Amino acid sequence: MWTVTSYVLRQKLAGRKQYPLVLMLEPLFRCNLACAGCGKIQYPAHILKKDLTPEECFRAVDECGAPMVSIPGGEPLMHPQIGEIIQGLVARKKYIYLCTNALLLKEKIHLFTPSKYLTFSVHLDGQREEHDLAVCREGGYDIAVDAVKEALKRGFRVTTNTTLFDGANPKSVRAFFDEMMDLGVEGMMLSPGYSYDKAPDQKHFLGRARTRRMFRAILSNRKKNWRFNLSPLFLEFLMGKRTYPCTPWGMPTYNVFGWQKPCYLLQDGYADTFAELLATTDWQNYGTESGNPACANCMVHSGYEASAVNATFSSLTGFLATVKATLFTSYRDEEALRLLDEPQAPVHPLVQIAPPNESLQETRA
Ligand code: SF4
Repeated sequence: MWTVTSYVLRQKLAGRKQYPLVLMLEPLFRCNLACAGCGKIQYPAHILKKDLTPEECFRAVDECGAPMVSIPGGEPLMHPQIGEIIQGLVARKKYIYLCTNALLLKEKIHLFTPSKYLTFSVHLDGQREEHDLAVCREGGYDIAVDAVKEALKRGFRVTTNTTLFDGANPKSVRAFFDEMMDLGVEGMMLSPGYSYDKAPDQKHFLGRARTRRMFRAILSNRKKNWRFNLSPLFLEFLMGKRTYPCTPWGMPTYNVFGWQKPCYLLQDGYADTFAELLATTDWQNYGTESGNPACANCMVHSGYEASAVNATFSSLTGFLATVKATLFTSYRDEEALRLLDEPQAPVHPLVQIAPPNESLQETRA
């Protein structure tokens, strides 16, 4: 927290309006899962075979200068030099979130050394049944939980990252939070899914109104022991208590194509350098307020958490709201309790690599 606070304050004092908070470094697109809601693994084989070299990773990290590096993919543990990449980033004192489905974590854990800079951010999309359906892999939850236990036993920092889609059962998500806290993870990260046009399952992406309703049910009447690895104001944004414009440069993406314009989710071209990305992207064309249909329903973490962090440090009101949300608020809400008892649509069946057959707009209420 101190690293982020001092970094943001330095950017503010320097008068920088556009600064990166987290670099999304995708060293490969290959994965050992084929999740229905993922748009990252649908590339042709010759792209899926490509890896960023450790030197390319280090150059991107140095160019960008963000204090945190998130390594999604693909599955980063499938990268043949992932140990070397992590070692180089730890040496640079970057706070690293290695995002993994954990299927290979026990097998590859010897490549890593526990460090305050390294956190395994394990992809778990809910309780056993919900997670296995979301990742289209029976037994995936048990393997991931087993790997989390092993990593914790060896002294690694471990958090979870959870993507929620339409039809997620708020009661089950809350029970999942209890399970993760009992397991001993350090914090939990949440995001609504983004409607990738390449994702096989197009029917279960959330519209903004439904996103807010779902997160209000999940995050109100909060238990004291739940720890989230997210800005408290971003959680309030998900619950519909705040509105923010998107900050796509806050979490820029570098992958085998270069610096991706404008964000982790959209691909409107690439830049060779981070400076070129900042200078040549038409930022006004993105975010919900821009009218860009690709952004209309987006509330994802990679677009809006940097907005929430910026709000914390932009005014005394923002700072006090963050302190209040961190220390004093349990978000008591009777209506949210009622929402928990609403009948849920049945969990969607497994969907893999099938063309969408219903209009996207139907789920974007
Ligand atoms: S609103 Fe979402 S899709 Fe649009 S630029 Fe922001 S993060 Fe990307």
